Amino acid sequence: MSEGVWAAPGRVNLIGEHTDYNDGFVMPFALPHSTRATVSRRDDGVLRLRSAGARGAPVELRTADLAPGRGPGGWTDYPAGVVWALRDAGLKVGGADIVYESDVPVGAGLSSSAALEVVTALALNDLYELGLERQPLARLCQRAENVYVGAPTGIMDQTASACCVAGHALLLDTRDLSQWQIPFDLAAVGLELLVVDTRVHHAHSEGEYGRRRAGCESAAAALGVSALRDVAYADLEAALSALEDPSLRPLVRHIVTEGHRVERVVSALRADDVRALGPLLTEGHASLRDDFAISCPELDLVVESALAAGALGARMTGGGFGGSAIVLTEASLSATVTSSVAKSFAAKGYEEPRVFSAVPSPGARRVA
Ligand code: ADP
Ligand code: MG
Repeated sequence: MSEGVWAAPGRVNLIGEHTDYNDGFVMPFALPHSTRATVSRRDDGVLRLRSAGARGAPVELRTADLAPGRGPGGWTDYPAGVVWALRDAGLKVGGADIVYESDVPVGAGLSSSAALEVVTALALNDLYELGLERQPLARLCQRAENVYVGAPTGIMDQTASACCVAGHALLLDTRDLSQWQIPFDLAAVGLELLVVDTRVHHAHSEGEYGRRRAGCESAAAALGVSALRDVAYADLEAALSALEDPSLRPLVRHIVTEGHRVERVVSALRADDVRALGPLLTEGHASLRDDFAISCPELDLVVESALAAGALGARMTGGGFGGSAIVLTEASLSATVTSSVAKSFAAKGYEEPRVFSAVPSPGARRVA
């Protein structure tokens, strides 16, 4: 007999790309897709993990022995890392039997990893009565991913999975973690936001991520600010001419214009002008493609073919070099846009992309 079932969603980022490690703003919303965990406590200190999505026998670990670098590697490092992070924070977490099931696409830039972490943390928080609020819980999940799994991700994914609210996008200041729930009801105004998973993942993406991150840090140091978030949009041209290393200029231009785009998206949503997001998304794509240089032919093709079919706007989302793109379209045109993207992929001999409609959905919660 299980003690309960919890769910945590994947997420997609509407706008604010690569701004998180520059102390800037991001604006994700939760997907309807989620990871569910069926959980019971155990009193023998053993963590027994099984996932419908991962082949092989259940993995059993002793919670008292968990430490970074000591795990068996593979998917169980994510939930084991969460238990380690909770215990390392002095919280009293014992053993548990956990069975996961998920419909979040894995490795598509839609944060299946954060969904897995957050659902684990929330279930244990409830069952062991740890008393964690959502943001500190997300922080501990990020620590699990950074330190235990060893992936250098920002705070956006876990915060989105833990804190999003249905019908809203989450405006998050990654410097001080303040958040605002911004109403984002597409259906009410006859719009749809499609997520297009290109199913490609180009191998060099991790090294490129590290280089962009290091480039942004050098640029901030050269400009005498603690992070590029501190370069005001009005001061962009002056900042660009102050930089001696010309290779840093496009990075600065992307981060500063992207911060400005987040502001414009928020203003448009607050003015109930959702259609105005279209050109802002497309402008964001051009900036990621031309200045930040992290797009790829498949992502560019999604954007081009969606716009040619009449979409209001489109952009790559996530880390880049593959993964997913988002497309804003009139709901009445979404089937046309979807088939046009699929046809253009077929014409290039690319694998058929996976396309779904992303309704802003609830964050992590207990479901049974
Ligand atoms: P993303 O978060 O964009 O989907 P990541 O590479 O960050 O991609 O995380 C994907 C990894 O998370 C998978 O390789 C797997 O180890 C783990 N994972 C995610 N969801 C599940 C699941 N339901 N069951 C088992 N492992 C999962
Ligand atoms: Mg991830």
